[in-house]
Amino acid sequence: VIQQGGRKIVSMSSKMHQELNRRAMIDRKMLTALNLKNFQVFYQPQLDIASGQFTVFEALVRWEDDELGYISPDELIPIAEENGLILEIGAFVLEEATKLAIEWDQKGQPIQLSVNSSVREFSQSHMKDRITDILAATGCPTNRIQLEITENFAFQAEEEQSIFHQMKELQEQGIEFVLDDFGTGYASFRYMQQLPISKIKIDRIFTNSLLTHPKTQQLVEGMIQFGKSMGLYVIAEGVETKEQFELLKEMGVDAVQGYYIGVPVTADKIQFE
Ligand code: C2E
Ligand code: CA
Ligand code: CA
Ligand code: CA
Repeated sequence: VIQQGGRKIVSMSSKMHQELNRRAMIDRKMLTALNLKNFQVFYQPQLDIASGQFTVFEALVRWEDDELGYISPDELIPIAEENGLILEIGAFVLEEATKLAIEWDQKGQPIQLSVNSSVREFSQSHMKDRITDILAATGCPTNRIQLEITENFAFQAEEEQSIFHQMKELQEQGIEFVLDDFGTGYASFRYMQQLPISKIKIDRIFTNSLLTHPKTQQLVEGMIQFGKSMGLYVIAEGVETKEQFELLKEMGVDAVQGYYIGVPVTADKIQFE
């Protein structure tokens, strides 16, 4: 902190400078990267316990830059929400996922593709139209696509009713909704009945501590029971070990996802017997 004529000038640490710099560069390079098709989509399988099959693959955006290196979605998405490019990214990921759904469909693999969506995409209206346009353009059956929304999704938005309405219309057309990161939000119970969701995905922090924190097991049991009583399909994410997998299976989850089941990969790496 430098004192200058009674005014305080706070000098930033070099680490802060670096972070701001990186953020600014990500912001600046994003559009070009999108246009140059430097963005990719990776897919992670979800194992349905009842059938023993991979019934769903989650689409996860990936961006590797020559200068900046790997830019994780956790870094990228908040910036994209701010600069508005989240709409472009969302459309890109959805288009890639629908193309893959059709390709697999033609190979006799009726697999669902699960696409993450940001509240910003819905609050900047016409989300419903953008989604149905993409599906119509590619000819993808609506029941092959599901959208993942996070638990505090609806709550931040002022246009809550408009968002619920768009979601309901999409659901009527056959698109399923998954409530992602379940258990980490704050208003779930109040909104659960209003949101047209058919699945919940228990956040990986719970899976993580399942075998190390005694109370987590009861918590997860409660979440599974709650989901079932609401008629929802319950998924556990972040499954990294056999022990977690066996326990979750015993506890009655419908599906599991995580490094133990399969890591996210490019579509060409996915083979069906
Ligand atoms: P998420 O939706 O909860 O996605 C799961 C994240 O956990 C992914 O990270 C995935 O790679 C990672 N993961 C999967 N299995 C395991 C495991 O066994 N252990 C651990 N520790 N992690 C696992 P990723 O790809 O870095 O994505 C982070 C978040 O960014 C996502 O969290 C999602 O909220 C968001 N995101 C990713 N792609 C998109 C996208 O296309 N659009 C939007 N709006 N958000 C996206
Ligand atoms: Ca997700
Ligand atoms: Ca999640
Ligand atoms: Ca998450």
